[in-house]
Amino acid sequence: MNRTEILASLKADPRVSVLIIGGGINGIGTFRDLALNGVDVLLVDRADFCSGASAASSHMAHGGVRYLENGEFRLVREAVQERNRLIGNAPHLVRPLPTTIPIFKLFSGLWNAPLKFLRLLDKPSERGALVIKAGLILYDAYTGGRRTVPHHRFLGRAASLSRWNRLNPQIVNTATYYDGAILQPERLGLELILDAEADNSQARALNYMSLESGSGETLLLRDELTDSLLEVRPRLVINAAGSWIDSANRKLGLSTRFIGGTKGSHLVLDHPELRAAIGDHEFFFENKDGRIVLIFPLFDRVLIGTTDIPIENPDEARCTEAETEYFLEMVGRVFPSIRISPENIVFRFSGVRPLAASRAKTAGQITREHAIEVVSGEWTGLAFPVYSLVGGKWTSFRAFSEEAADKALAHLGRPRQKDTRSLPVGGGRGYPGTPEDVKRFMDGVAAWTGLPPNRVRILFERYGTRVEQVATFIGRGQDGPLKSVPSYSRQEFAFLAQQEKILHLDDLLLRRSMLGMLGRLTRELVEEAAGVLAESLHWQDARTKAEVGRTLEILADRHAVRL
Ligand SMILES: Cc1cc2nc3c(=O)[nH]c(=O)nc-3n(C[C@H](O)[C@H](O)[C@H](O)COP(=O)(O)OP(=O)(O)OC[C@H]3O[C@@H](n4cnc5c(N)ncnc54)[C@H](O)[C@@H]3O)c2cc1C
Repeated sequence: MNRTEILASLKADPRVSVLIIGGGINGIGTFRDLALNGVDVLLVDRADFCSGASAASSHMAHGGVRYLENGEFRLVREAVQERNRLIGNAPHLVRPLPTTIPIFKLFSGLWNAPLKFLRLLDKPSERGALVIKAGLILYDAYTGGRRTVPHHRFLGRAASLSRWNRLNPQIVNTATYYDGAILQPERLGLELILDAEADNSQARALNYMSLESGSGETLLLRDELTDSLLEVRPRLVINAAGSWIDSANRKLGLSTRFIGGTKGSHLVLDHPELRAAIGDHEFFFENKDGRIVLIFPLFDRVLIGTTDIPIENPDEARCTEAETEYFLEMVGRVFPSIRISPENIVFRFSGVRPLAASRAKTAGQITREHAIEVVSGEWTGLAFPVYSLVGGKWTSFRAFSEEAADKALAHLGRPRQKDTRSLPVGGGRGYPGTPEDVKRFMDGVAAWTGLPPNRVRILFERYGTRVEQVATFIGRGQDGPLKSVPSYSRQEFAFLAQQEKILHLDDLLLRRSMLGMLGRLTRELVEEAAGVLAESLHWQDARTKAEVGRTLEILADRHAVRL
């Protein structure tokens, strides 16, 4: 169903078994699991899907080796398993990522680690080689018998400096272990939604639809495109509004204090010298102040981050000048001969981790665990209970969603029929396993769609096996490369517009594609893309102009990109 059909179906019958508020990765994961189990479920987001914290992550599918020192063994074990599942189920978007820790001391942290574990030490302190070794042995052990990624390795000083010749000569060792890179998190979220809707016609997802209020058995939703109100009558509400959970609960008349969010920012750099210096490795290290920070290979760019700063109002999260200075300086700790200047920054972003409200003395100590907080209908005047999904990580969304779906199924009195553990996602379905299979697959698509092999390769890299759908759509119409970015074509944008719930121009430029984050946008490209969407989505001139204005404003305000 398209948006108009979904809205009409809800007007005709406002009853739904489950309403999920918030289309970040936790709401989306729960939506998919319930859809798979035959539940009629409605997912709404006040903005675009994956535009909150889920668009602000460090792009790591990781177990969180650093959480071991907080004693969060269950969390790390679960996240390592989920990392492996993600690599297996979405191989087009999640890849093994060699991660290197440059180490500056041998023994440091030996006493601090147990103190931290016993929660007797609040401040971050330097971790030496032995402590890191102990952590990585445990981390490897959690991967279990079936190895999705290789074991960790230590290199001595000389070998490390010959492998990475720009590395700080003051290091004593490097340790390399494997995690995963979620290359395009926002696309992964969207593909999960499309899978769920394809699987179950009673699973419906609406972006730009916000929770307005609720009482008794009725909830009011506001259509952010038309300002009109829509009534729904759910048997259960799942509040997956991330760092906005408490404000969403307030709209239902519930006074909760579940969230104590922390802000984290990132920069994307266009810096070929630094990009060459890190190769295909992420560098994950301790900055001067003890914070763990990262330098991450994101396509041909470098992603650097992140901070961890308590914040009250998530709508105010922006990457500040102070954070920018902190990031630019931190690179010098590991690669002292490489100069970074503000001109290298092509994109900034910031988001708020929806962490549980906590009394921890430092942000780094707040648990990254997830929890489902239940407010039962009896006490609230609401005819339905509200489950709030607090915390979590991108990496472990599937496990968190499974827990939420189990609880929802129990409430509805329905048995679980299927699970998502080894369920492929979107363009990961039928993904060719070897380089020969990939070639055979791409040759096949090129042969029956008539697209040039080089074009098919680019599309395969973007969409995995969904390239079949994209290429078929492209083959059906009049196509041509975009003037301002020839690796994209008009028909490709038209496909995204019609098949991927695009309602605003920024949905395309910031989330369905990596054009914004990788700093490829120009004024000309924004206008050209608006023209293609206008044709596809039948926008009048005034709307097209307004969309260009809206995109330029978002780029300037949230990402410090001025075109
Ligand atoms: C800086 C940073 C770095 C991170 N790095 C990593 C990492 O490398 N790896 C990892 O695994 N995890 C990482 N995380 C954690 C991960 O990104 C989050 O835990 C996860 O995205 C949270 O998803 P969510 O669905 O709970 O929240 P969100 O993605 O914030 O989704 C909540 C949604 O609710 C919507 N909403 C709010 N109010 C309403 C309303 N009234 N009506 C309707 N909708 C509403 C919002 O628009 C939003 O889209 C990082 C987080 C941050 C902030």
